[in-house]
Amino acid sequence: MNRIISHYINGQHSAGSGTRSSPVFNPASGKIQADVVLAEQADVNAVVAAAKAAFPAWSDTAPLRRARIMFKFKMLLEARQDELAALISSEHGKVHADALGEVTRGLEVVEFACGIPQLLKGEYTEQVGRGIDAWTMRQSLGVVAGITPFNFPAMVPMWMFPVAIACGNTFILKPSERDPSAALFIAELLQEAGLPDGVFNVLQGDKLAVDGLLTHPDVQAVSFVGSTPIAQYIYETGARHGKRVQALGGAKNHMVVMPDADLEQTVDALMGAAYGSAGERCMAISIAVAVGDVADKLVAKLAERLKTLKVGPGDDPKSEMGPLVTRTHFDKVSGYVARGVEEGASLVVDGRGLSVPGCEDGFFLGGCLFDNVTTDMTIYQEEIFGPVLGIVRVDSFAAAVEMINAHAFGNGTAIFTRDGDAAREFTHRIQVGMVGVNVPLPVPMAFHSFGGWKASLFGDHHMHGPEGVRFYTRMKAVTTRWPTGIRAGAEFAMPTMK
Ligand code: NAD
Repeated sequence: MNRIISHYINGQHSAGSGTRSSPVFNPASGKIQADVVLAEQADVNAVVAAAKAAFPAWSDTAPLRRARIMFKFKMLLEARQDELAALISSEHGKVHADALGEVTRGLEVVEFACGIPQLLKGEYTEQVGRGIDAWTMRQSLGVVAGITPFNFPAMVPMWMFPVAIACGNTFILKPSERDPSAALFIAELLQEAGLPDGVFNVLQGDKLAVDGLLTHPDVQAVSFVGSTPIAQYIYETGARHGKRVQALGGAKNHMVVMPDADLEQTVDALMGAAYGSAGERCMAISIAVAVGDVADKLVAKLAERLKTLKVGPGDDPKSEMGPLVTRTHFDKVSGYVARGVEEGASLVVDGRGLSVPGCEDGFFLGGCLFDNVTTDMTIYQEEIFGPVLGIVRVDSFAAAVEMINAHAFGNGTAIFTRDGDAAREFTHRIQVGMVGVNVPLPVPMAFHSFGGWKASLFGDHHMHGPEGVRFYTRMKAVTTRWPTGIRAGAEFAMPTMK
């Protein structure tokens, strides 16, 4: 009998009402380590009811008191970040240092949310008319839901719930069924920090749970991060059911390498950005666009460096890259490598067939490098989400920009150059939501907002930072006049300020 990973509803672990479950693997050993329960409609109803019941008292709690719980949560999370990182690594596969990095980036959103009294301040205008004042305030929405992907089981939920909760909403997290334990660890720490029961809940599940939340009349808003087809489905279904929706999708991120770039720095940056976390990052660089004569040197250096990439289990401090998340995903990524060969790209380094001693059944794929990738190939057009980097050769900066702007995705991109003019032109012209200049993974800090363009985001709000506060609140505008300012007599014309 496997260990059971449960829901967390109204401050209690709950096995739920159903009998369905899904296996959770240890990707390094390839073995099933637990089963996660999958919600039925009755569980969706129970969790929404708990969050709804907790909302009136929580939304009426002073923002300063809500912020103090966030401060306490931050301290608890800092003290136990190693444990959380180990938990992430055991279910996702990423190396411990990378898991710690994800926890830190999530913690930064908690730190941002600690400033919620300042962030919720409205605007005030005295004397919009004689004796009349006008002001605005931002108020919470109610029950909100977050549906998250497998690749950042702590950070992506933390893009959402710290801001949502600090704004006065109650929250239901539906984590990925592939690595569901980080969500429960977080739930317990929030309770220890003093969060009232029902304010943060975890609903484990699959499409049934997601559909239940998307169509439930008591859910006011849905935040989603995951693949593009599901993001589009979430956006359309949620909007059809009257909800506010922000749905972040997949990516295909290009790095432009100009002929004047520092090659050593560029290769270091590409190694981390393409192969870190086995390429399972929405901001991973999967295409390097070599401009002019830089391509041969770039490919030679990358191939050399790939020979020394240390692939191994996430809990081995010597590992630089861990396994892929599941056997199914391993097969999918390996299939893309085969497809690239069929389509005529040059496979300079083939990571298939790698065996890690002691972990022979793990889902390990070595780093792969393709040269001579062209825009008509599937490996150029589709998101692979694995340790596969493609080189596209172009002869000018303008051709690089045109190519990136024509791609369906627009999440992140970067340019490596010493030329300020080229960098400025790039940041101005490129149709991508997050841009790096000599920064390979331009992930905005917590006090800015994260989000892509085109098929990488459905909706109009990015996550966390000021956009997060706007998403999780609605504005009310108040116009006030007291009896001394009221003139006698009824007015039948549209009121104008006198
Ligand atoms: P996914 O789309 O398969 O799953 C995401 C969530 O949706 C999970 O909670 C899953 O249970 C749920 N889901 C899956 N299929 C569903 C369906 N048919 N109906 C309703 N819900 C469904 O994504 P994933 O494989 O977990 O994560 C990887 C993807 O996430 C990649 O495409 C990656 O680029 C993307 N991602 C994007 C960002 C971003 O900020 N844009 C960040 C991280 C990951």
